[in-house]
Amino acid sequence: MKPPETVRALVDFANIPPDSTELVHHIEEVDIPLADPRQCTHHDTLCAHCAHTWTSQHLFTESLPWGKQYRNTTDP
Ligand SMILES: [Zn+2]
Repeated sequence: MKPPETVRALVDFANIPPDSTELVHHIEEVDIPLADPRQCTHHDTLCAHCAHTWTSQHLFTESLPWGKQYRNTTDP
């Protein structure tokens, strides 16, 4: 069994502090666990099927292991 793999991403936890009206950006680096698409929750774990839903809030700093090849097989 391989250890669970993760992919590193930057997330912007932007928020407006209670005493302010301006949005404060707070960039954090996170490791998102990768999962088999059949076991992925698409919420706490990332798979090729839900990767596109993560990209709206996450900037992947590592290339995803399935790359373009995999995407071509799932895209219409
Ligand atoms: Zn998923």
